[in-house]
Amino acid sequence: MQIIRGIGVSQGVAVGPALVLDTQGLRIPQQKVKPEQVSAEWNRLQIALREVVKDAALAQEDVTRRLGAQYGAIFASHAMLLEDPLLIEELQKLIQVDRYTAEYAVTRAIRGFIEKLKALGEKSFLAWRASDLHDIERRILDQLIGERGDPLLNLAEPVIIAAHDLTPSETASLDRSKVYAIATEHGGKTSHTAILANALEIPAVVGLGPFLNQISGGDTLIVDGTDGTMILNPDPATLYRYRRIRDSRLSKTGHWVVGLQRPVSTRDGVHIRLLGNIEFPEEASSCVARGAEGIGLYRTEFLYAGRSCDPTEEEHYRAYTRVLREVGSDRPVVIRTLDLGADKFASAHAVSAPEKNPSLGVRSVRVCLRDTGLFRKQLRAILRASAHGNVRIMFPMVSTTTELTACRGLLEDVKEDLSHEGVAFNANIPVGTMIEVPSAALMADRFAQMVDFFSIGTNDLIQYTLAADRTNEHVADLYNPADPAVLRLIERVVRAAEDRGISVNVCGEMSGDPLFTPLLVGLGLRQLSLTANNLADVRAVVSRLDLPTAQRIAQTALELDSAREIVSFLRAEMKRIYPDVFGDLGDE
Ligand code: PEP
Ligand code: MG
Repeated sequence: MQIIRGIGVSQGVAVGPALVLDTQGLRIPQQKVKPEQVSAEWNRLQIALREVVKDAALAQEDVTRRLGAQYGAIFASHAMLLEDPLLIEELQKLIQVDRYTAEYAVTRAIRGFIEKLKALGEKSFLAWRASDLHDIERRILDQLIGERGDPLLNLAEPVIIAAHDLTPSETASLDRSKVYAIATEHGGKTSHTAILANALEIPAVVGLGPFLNQISGGDTLIVDGTDGTMILNPDPATLYRYRRIRDSRLSKTGHWVVGLQRPVSTRDGVHIRLLGNIEFPEEASSCVARGAEGIGLYRTEFLYAGRSCDPTEEEHYRAYTRVLREVGSDRPVVIRTLDLGADKFASAHAVSAPEKNPSLGVRSVRVCLRDTGLFRKQLRAILRASAHGNVRIMFPMVSTTTELTACRGLLEDVKEDLSHEGVAFNANIPVGTMIEVPSAALMADRFAQMVDFFSIGTNDLIQYTLAADRTNEHVADLYNPADPAVLRLIERVVRAAEDRGISVNVCGEMSGDPLFTPLLVGLGLRQLSLTANNLADVRAVVSRLDLPTAQRIAQTALELDSAREIVSFLRAEMKRIYPDVFGDLGDE
């Protein structure tokens, strides 16, 4: 049994068999074939092995020609390994006796070999062999899987996905009835994969570091998305304990759910407007069902999920009107314009040469302002949808007043076009900007004169303030919403909005973490936008909070020097105010 700590990004506990997606994206479920299919399965493997041997011979020739015989010899040794009688015997047993698929047999046999080699010691020689074995495993699987397609699409039983990383599109396409949980080696708290897992309500831990080499498909895993841990091959006592935790967490969630009647207020009657964050129109109704008063962030770039061409104006329009139908036409829906680039969908509209720092490059509104055709198409669709409900428009990643002026100018142009065409829209559509770049937070007083509302995108604000990539687990210690620099920027933005009398929201993942709810309320926020998965917990915290306590918490937090001190202070406060729920919260 092994316990690995990572970053919990979507709460909940799951216990189940692993489906390993290796670094090349190969899927190896533990599956058996019918007795009558065994000999065909063995033949498939023989053919694949012959192909790999042939490829190894070609690689040997090629490398010898380019680099010399000593390097070419590496591939000769691959061919030898493939004919190793011990390996063949093991494969034969796994397929002919145990009736496993050829893919699973290869993974199991080769990984078993690697473990045995490691146990023998003699590090350098054996490490070399282990990496060669991984290479061979991958080549055989390429042959086998290339022939059969992607088993992730045809899962027979629910699994826990163990992967190096998942792309947002892969995560978005998961069938949540077949995926108990996600565990990845790479990733940070607010990577878009993490956000999607949370939206899909699939428990997830990311940033676990290398672990895929230690598991095979079918191994039992425990994923605790609340504590950010994963347990490989748990012993029976641990398995029993976690099954109980899983079940008690389910009932604790029930305990947390407060009446869903809108709106939610603190004990002393301060209304805190909770809104939903969505990526897909289908999510809107589950936000409303959990008490959201509307949609505070619709990430429209997810219209690009799983497709290679641009959505048409009609497709944009249909998605927006669907959201309006799901939430009801009187509730606000904040449609954010495309935030393409960086760790989200690569855009055909981005600059042609690959960028060294995509997060600092042509991303988001920078893409739209360079490709005004793309931008206009979306603005037309949003304006057309505004004729059917309470639509608000929001620009992401704005870093200067010049950019904001350009966005507003283009919006006015598009309004003019629609008027000429006699198309209905709301001429007074509220316009907001996200504050997610430190320059925008510092200039918030000026930005406040140019818009009707602010929405603070803490996911990016944290990464840009602390120069810590939101998707990189190696800097996860720096990437902290409780960092005093981040809190000061939030406070500054809230004050600027108050002075100008415009509304301000927080829509980063920070607003879905109940630990930060009292702090944010104390800083003056009266609106929070979060995923459906976190609404119940945040509602419960708000309904048992009072304003003087929240303000005291915010004041004290602002006086502290480090994220660590602030987090332990907040945890202590949570234990004191909500002993029944946070009483068992460990110390940092
Ligand atoms: C944010 O940056 O906080 C945000 C809400 O935007 P996204 O996560 O989509 O970048
Ligand atoms: Mg952002």
